[in-house]
Amino acid sequence: MLPNVAELQLLFAQLNYLHFDGEIPTYRIAYNARFSNLAGRTTYKPPTIELSPKHLDGKPDELRETLLHEMIHAWLYAKGANPGHTAAFKKKMRELGLRSIYHDLGTARPFNESVKRYILRCEKCTMEVLRKRKPPANLMCARCRKSLSVFEVVEMREIVPAAAASRTSR
Ligand SMILES: [Zn+2]
Ligand SMILES: [Zn+2]
Repeated sequence: MLPNVAELQLLFAQLNYLHFDGEIPTYRIAYNARFSNLAGRTTYKPPTIELSPKHLDGKPDELRETLLHEMIHAWLYAKGANPGHTAAFKKKMRELGLRSIYHDLGTARPFNESVKRYILRCEKCTMEVLRKRKPPANLMCARCRKSLSVFEVVEMREIVPAAAASRTSR
């Protein structure tokens, strides 16, 4: 069972109030069913946190931890701090009782700061393309002839097979 999007938005508001003094501005919290190897993704522009229904279904603790992790990035960014996995990030993680920078999805390794910083998405057919450089304005979906939304990627949390994860943790 997954919370619906309204419940997610409420959870975000509660956690923001509880742990961040309400300092995180409004983010859109959404599921992205197309994630195959990501548990969560944060973009600043527009402010969006996306979660993977596939990896978080039936795992309320993991869902909460994934959301909190993404919220720390959003919080640091809102304060004008480096939003990466810095010492400040890890300090906040410990305060929130998140046990390690390595996420507890079991197969998830820490968080790939992607070199591809931009996502182009067609909201109609949900096609997505990743780009390294800022794309020109007004690109159209080749299929739908709709203009594409541009997201700036902050973080993608990648899930790797357990065997590879245990290799890298040694
Ligand atoms: Zn992260
Ligand atoms: Zn399209």
